Amino acid sequence: MKQSLTFIPTMREIPSDAEIRSHQLLLRAGFIRQTTSGVYSYLPLGKMVLKKIEAIIREEMDAINGVEVLMPALQQAELWQESGRWQSYGPELFRMKDRHNRDFALGATHEEVIVSLVRDELKSYKQLPLTMYQIQTKFRDEQRPRFGLLRGREFIMKDAYSFHATEESLNETYEHMYQAYTNIFTRLGLNFRSVIADAGAIGGSGTHEFMALSDIGEDTIAYSDETSFAANIEMAEVRNEYVKSDDPLKEMEKVATPDQRTIEDVVSFLGVEAERCIKTLVFNIDGELVMVLARGDHEINDIKLKNALDADTVEFAYEGDVYELLSCEVGSVGPVKLPIGVRVIADHAVASIVNGVAGANEDGYHFINTNPERDFGVDDYMDLRIIQEGDLTPDGEGTVKFAKGIEVGHIFKLGTTYSEPMSGKFLDNNGRSQPYQMGCYGIGVSRIMAAVAEEFNDENGLKWPKKLAPFDIHLVPINMNNEDQKELADNLYKLLKSYKFDVLYDDRTERAGVKFTDSDLIGLPMRITIGKKAAEGIVEVKFRESGETTEWHVEEITEKLQEFFVEK
Ligand code: ATP
Ligand code: MG
Repeated sequence: MKQSLTFIPTMREIPSDAEIRSHQLLLRAGFIRQTTSGVYSYLPLGKMVLKKIEAIIREEMDAINGVEVLMPALQQAELWQESGRWQSYGPELFRMKDRHNRDFALGATHEEVIVSLVRDELKSYKQLPLTMYQIQTKFRDEQRPRFGLLRGREFIMKDAYSFHATEESLNETYEHMYQAYTNIFTRLGLNFRSVIADAGAIGGSGTHEFMALSDIGEDTIAYSDETSFAANIEMAEVRNEYVKSDDPLKEMEKVATPDQRTIEDVVSFLGVEAERCIKTLVFNIDGELVMVLARGDHEINDIKLKNALDADTVEFAYEGDVYELLSCEVGSVGPVKLPIGVRVIADHAVASIVNGVAGANEDGYHFINTNPERDFGVDDYMDLRIIQEGDLTPDGEGTVKFAKGIEVGHIFKLGTTYSEPMSGKFLDNNGRSQPYQMGCYGIGVSRIMAAVAEEFNDENGLKWPKKLAPFDIHLVPINMNNEDQKELADNLYKLLKSYKFDVLYDDRTERAGVKFTDSDLIGLPMRITIGKKAAEGIVEVKFRESGETTEWHVEEITEKLQEFFVEK
């Protein structure tokens, strides 16, 4: 491709609204442009990268017998009403009306559409299993679109759905998907980990997320160097192994703690360790006020709480509601002497607290030397806290570390969550009508482009891995008005194309400095510069990854290039 004939609008300045490297560089190097918050155009270079990502995904999906389809983005509300998600999906779903005042949504995901598609066709167990996938634009009115392509409101996703007669069959396809995803992210060159994710109401080991490790990631992963354990911290199980001290129980006492509201306040005011404080939170769980206890140095994980109680909604209680229940501010609540009927649940660690400190349900007072069972009751002890660095892994074999990750893929055993309410049924081999077992499997295609850009760059620009670079080679004559240079460049361009290399030929009559700056920004794996030694048939070669430069004679170029691109 001749650079003068394409559209690569580069920018020198760092765009003020782009916070992270990948976003800045994709804008500056002319890969993308924003049209409105969270909505982007992919310019020629961006579109080429997308195609390469998509090609890898397609190959791996096809290899496990996924078949490609393309479903509509415009979806009638009735389908979402059937599954119940017209209500439950919330404001992320773009909703609109047609000219007849009928409700529609723009597809945020396609479980509803695909169930409605197959339920009229897949009627017998003999037609199962079946896996279909598509690569398509999704719409989600995200609360905080940001970081460029990482969190868009319109973005490209690969979504696959599988249909099965039995759970065993679903498990088998899930394993194949897991392997295909591992292959995809390995081929994309991402530094990634698969982690156990939140399965919500479905539970079990039925979902994994694939995380590209990155400091700017919004998710935190708990992992260990000693074992294969890796989980989203939302999900990571904490071992119930707490040592209870054998200190004698002291008499409980009420002490004044004026204006001491947080655990930190109380710790410094009373001179106790946070481990001896009983953090007391009041949650509104499906409309009931529930008291939740944790050790002062621990944090409650509301996803665990939600799953443990099989609840639909878990929110902090309003301060006014807490006051009405306990007649005190939230900073002074505690589990001792509660009104009858208040449910108390606690993280396992609380059971081992001896002579602890807790709010007295009276503004400005705490109890010291309070002990579970003796001074207050707990209805249930559960694993409710967020795992911490230094904790043991769930199998007890390793120590937990944290890393930040960008979720690039998500695989999920849905079971009959959609097929049941939407009557997606087939006849099994005994002639009985049964809902399909289903799986769904997503990959953030456009998000991957940003994740790769985030991992591969330096202060001068992007550094595309060979497999994803929009072109293999940047061919840059320093002076297009010099006959020798122009002739050699033209000849090389033809030659390299005939060898099936993808070449971006900077045939513009720009100054050398401009061309080099643009070239570094764009970040193709190799630059071939044609300068003063053109008449001798010598070119300068620069490898973007290592920054190394060398000189090659035109005679040896094709051989050397084949060597360099061999493991592409
Ligand atoms: P997140 O927690 O990041 O919002 P999600 O759990 O909502 O992701 P899924 O519904 O599982 O995501 O979608 C499948 C994949 O689509 C995700 O793994 C992610 O890579 C990608 N994705 C989701 N939301 C966005 C978005 N707003 N912009 C770009 N990619 C996205
Ligand atoms: Mg989301």
